[in-house]
Amino acid sequence: KTFEELGLHRDLLKGLFQMGFSKPSKIQERALPLLLSNPPTNMIGQSQSGTGKTAAFVLTMLSRVDFSKNQTQALCLAPSRELARQIMSVILVMGKFTAIQTEYAIKDHLPRGATRVTAHIVVGTAGTMIELIRKKVIDVSGIKVFVLDEADNMLDQDGLGDQTLRVKNMLPRSPTNPIQIILFSATFPDHVRNFASKFAPNANKIEL
Ligand code: AMP
Repeated sequence: KTFEELGLHRDLLKGLFQMGFSKPSKIQERALPLLLSNPPTNMIGQSQSGTGKTAAFVLTMLSRVDFSKNQTQALCLAPSRELARQIMSVILVMGKFTAIQTEYAIKDHLPRGATRVTAHIVVGTAGTMIELIRKKVIDVSGIKVFVLDEADNMLDQDGLGDQTLRVKNMLPRSPTNPIQIILFSATFPDHVRNFASKFAPNANKIEL
């Protein structure tokens, strides 16, 4: 399959073309049809870095954003600021031909006293995400997609698993408009598997 056949918007195809991506990687080819399906379904993906998993969830977030609304519609959590920055750079290059606006939820990034984030996609770490949602700097009422990358690394750090679940519990719950939850992890020892099934219930599972 080609990226065109996966039904991506032409502004995203332009971004992919400019990055030199000529065809989907194996994980993209398998995950994207499920990730982009309607109604949206949750996904638990097993995949090492280097396989193209970042593009899979970034394209999903970019595909689900309504650019005409200045409202946060996708959240992405990473186990470190460094990974958050890497994910952000992928969003910005892939979304170069869209009207995407992004913001970081990482410690000391936003100016003190910042009142409202209207970025379409917010990428960050769990502690700061919780703080910004609690202070209503991030409005979660319009969230459609929630992504957790490198869940195994996340769970290796004290308290981060709980914080991640706390973020999830701060999101609105609507039976008619459920939030699409996407979790990627390189490894799935039992504790990650248990966490994943709590975090992303009824998910499609793909392994590479
Ligand atoms: P990731 O697994 O997300 O860490 O991505 C690994 C690397 O593969 C990154 O450097 C991407 O730029 C690259 N990449 C991802 N998808 C593709 C693709 N479809 N074609 C070519 N390179 C890709």
